[in-house]
Amino acid sequence: MTEAERQAALDAIGAEVAACTRCRLHQTRTKAVPGEGTAATEVLFVGEGPGFNEDRQGRPFVGQAGALLSELLGAVSWSRDEVFITNVVKCRPPENRDPEPDEIAACAGFLTRQLAALDPALVVTLGRFSMARFNPGARIGQVHGTFRPADPESGAPEALTYAMYHPAAALHQGSLKATLFRDMEGVPAALLEARKMRESRIHGASARGQIYDPQQPPPEAADLESPAAPQPAIDARESTDVAAESSPTDQLGLF
Ligand code: URA
Repeated sequence: MTEAERQAALDAIGAEVAACTRCRLHQTRTKAVPGEGTAATEVLFVGEGPGFNEDRQGRPFVGQAGALLSELLGAVSWSRDEVFITNVVKCRPPENRDPEPDEIAACAGFLTRQLAALDPALVVTLGRFSMARFNPGARIGQVHGTFRPADPESGAPEALTYAMYHPAAALHQGSLKATLFRDMEGVPAALLEARKMRESRIHGASARGQIYDPQQPPPEAADLESPAAPQPAIDARESTDVAAESSPTDQLGLF
């Protein structure tokens, strides 16, 4: 897909979201919040659902949690307009309650289509509802700050996911703020690993039954006959080869 085609697909999804009546949340919303950012990005941030300010403005992460997300992006010299930001549910649950399973299910197709349009290399999950979509069964306390392949059922079979606590959690529990900043530092390295994984798939490793393992050498050098490795859970913050690759047209300024 060209960038213009990706943008057109995202715009069409946004228009449908704005008029959606698939679940009860449409009855209480002010504005639906499809998501925003650039169609050219490799990185998608997925939160839980709009809050008070997002519902008023129709834009994701514009309240206090959003200010912290912008700060977190700034800590790795990224900005909101270099990534795409959306949520598991696109309309505000009343009183900021958790989204119900049927609301998440009713909204799931929109995120699936956004994933298809963006084809992100890396999905950063913010909080447990987002993590549950991309890595069902994972526990945030154990996996935050680490990456792994996305569950193929998530709609992002070619992506790595990187789990983070929800920024709003740090507004309630101050000690999580330092954890969020520490975890954010691992995101650029996770993107490099995600690029490597996609490279290895392009070169046919997955077609030959090999599961990507970032601790192994690239597929050219790996023994493709060896048994499949277990799903990796790597602490990207410990990765040492951030500067090992270069790209002259690096949108996210990694190099
Ligand atoms: N919390 C979320 O999960 N999403 C938003 O857009 C804002 C706050």
